[in-house]
Amino acid sequence: MSEDTRSELTEILHNLREHAKFFGELGIENLSLEAASEPAHQAPPPETLAASTTGRVSTFTPAPVTSISEKTDVRPRPQPEPSLFNESAASSLPRSNETLEQIWADIGDCTRCGLCEGRTQVVNTHGNRKARLMFVGEAPGADEDAQGKPFVGRAGQLLTKMIEAMGMKREEVIIGNVNRCRPPGNRQPTLEEAAICRPFLFREIAAIQPDIIVVMGNTALRNLLEAREGITRVRGKFQDFRGIKVMPTFHPAYLLRDPSKKRETWEDLKMVMEYLENHPPKSHT
Ligand code: URA
Repeated sequence: MSEDTRSELTEILHNLREHAKFFGELGIENLSLEAASEPAHQAPPPETLAASTTGRVSTFTPAPVTSISEKTDVRPRPQPEPSLFNESAASSLPRSNETLEQIWADIGDCTRCGLCEGRTQVVNTHGNRKARLMFVGEAPGADEDAQGKPFVGRAGQLLTKMIEAMGMKREEVIIGNVNRCRPPGNRQPTLEEAAICRPFLFREIAAIQPDIIVVMGNTALRNLLEAREGITRVRGKFQDFRGIKVMPTFHPAYLLRDPSKKRETWEDLKMVMEYLENHPPKSHT
């Protein structure tokens, strides 16, 4: 065996061990996509399906990432309807041609609610603005408040692992929160604080037009879907946010407190992977 082959094999082994560690931390032993409960809506093109992954970690083939990063639709998008942010409107969300910069400029050094008093900075949505997949959490914590980016603390590190376990890189997705300012003591934002801030998230969603949104925890669930039931009952069941698929799942901070819930979260994420694999990017349909 040549020296090159030997070092390649060593590297592959190392990567496999790292993967196995990720999945172990997520509580995942069985990597099958077949258990995902929503049936595929159409036969998946063979080249986009991850290889059968039932069984051992070392056989895992990450979901193809090209379909995520290749969303390059730059066609002009129609202007939003004036009624777009009337939250009682149950209609589908029209595409908006606002840029994220325009939305953030509008947010500015926001003082629309009392959370501005305790924050260091506004934490805006961050990531790939052509992403097919968006994650939405609750509000920044101390690390996010200090760094100005969502999900960079311990919960964020776990979220990154979850994304990587899905076969993607964090840079390929986009991540935001219902509230953009850190609530004192990391308390849950009040209904009023959330209602003041969420229209900016809705505007971002209208501009990004992700194919699927993962809402993490009750605050995200209740502010996007106005669900009566809590995350424990709704998780794992596809929902609709004005024409956009939504998958509710547990918040990573909750998973840090109760790691036994990682297994269910992984089931939810597998459904998301399966949906993305079996549906072409929205802009190409
Ligand atoms: N929890 C959240 O909901 N959002 C963050 O950005 C960080 C922790």
